[in-house]
Amino acid sequence: MAAQVLIVEDEPPIQELISVNLRQAGHVVQCALAAEEAHSLLGRWLPDLILLDWMLPGMSGVEFTRLLRSEPRTRDIPVILLSARDAERDKIAGLEAGADDYITKPFSARELIARISVILRRRVPQLSAEVVGVGSLVVDPAAKTVTVAGVPVMLGSTEFRLLHFLVTHAERVYSRSQLIDHVWGADFVGDNRTVDVHISRLRSALTPGGMDGIIRTVRGSGYSLSVRP
Ligand code: CA
Repeated sequence: MAAQVLIVEDEPPIQELISVNLRQAGHVVQCALAAEEAHSLLGRWLPDLILLDWMLPGMSGVEFTRLLRSEPRTRDIPVILLSARDAERDKIAGLEAGADDYITKPFSARELIARISVILRRRVPQLSAEVVGVGSLVVDPAAKTVTVAGVPVMLGSTEFRLLHFLVTHAERVYSRSQLIDHVWGADFVGDNRTVDVHISRLRSALTPGGMDGIIRTVRGSGYSLSVRP
């Protein structure tokens, strides 16, 4: 699956090597040389995953991981720490700071790509082409089709992405701004009301199949897809 990846690495040759390999694997890559630079980049762009060097000038990779985890906008972005330190206590410190994985330098490109795929499958399921569903609702991202009890549901492309995101993150509440980040990304033009409009269109499309009730409004918080009574 192709993802948007931020590489934070202060050594240009290593940064270049990683980005070339990731681009060859189909990912879209942006790079930063320090945590501070990465932090300002994240103000305008949210990647699907961050590859983060431990030893950086200024804020360290571990400190930056803690910062990412403390901010609502970046809390859920998977982080893989890269480090020449292979002591067990360093790995534990990295994982305790909130990193999803820890890779010891030097590593092969193949290992890095494989580890990225594992994390993306687990943490960013909306990038996967796997068929997903809840109850009689089935979403096929490869074919871009939705059915309820086998009957096709016609959706616009935004409603399709919104539904796919919600189905892959069922039973969790997302604010309108979180939905904008995950479903629209940096291309978003509009305001929170735009989200309400697309939710309303999605519910209307699901109404004939009797599935509109799964898209819940959570007062004061946002929306969730839930099949719980
Ligand atoms: Ca470094």
